[in-house]
Amino acid sequence: MPVYFPEFVQLGAHKYVVRCPYNFKERTDLYGQCDNAEAEIRIQCLESGGNPRPDSEIARTFFHEFLHAVDCIFLNCEVGKMKQSERIINGLAEGLAQAFMAGQMPTVTEI
Ligand SMILES: [Zn+2]
Repeated sequence: MPVYFPEFVQLGAHKYVVRCPYNFKERTDLYGQCDNAEAEIRIQCLESGGNPRPDSEIARTFFHEFLHAVDCIFLNCEVGKMKQSERIINGLAEGLAQAFMAGQMPTVTEI
């Protein structure tokens, strides 16, 4: 099942553009990035060898970067300042991505 991402996510007064696919030119080992200064979430969709990344991994990367943005906007980047911040973000992103990929997330539809 292909994963579709929104063009942007609105967080408070901030509109984060979602760039997917995004090709990191400076680092090939990077799969995602949340640039709070530019208000951008960047997702690499290819492995370093050029093969497409599995949708589940792309979803996990999206939620990971999304949570970094949520942390900065709503928590003053407090999670990011913690020693175990990446471990916490990874765990939360994994749970959200698993529920998302299983179709077990709420959705909004127009009536
Ligand atoms: Zn991270």
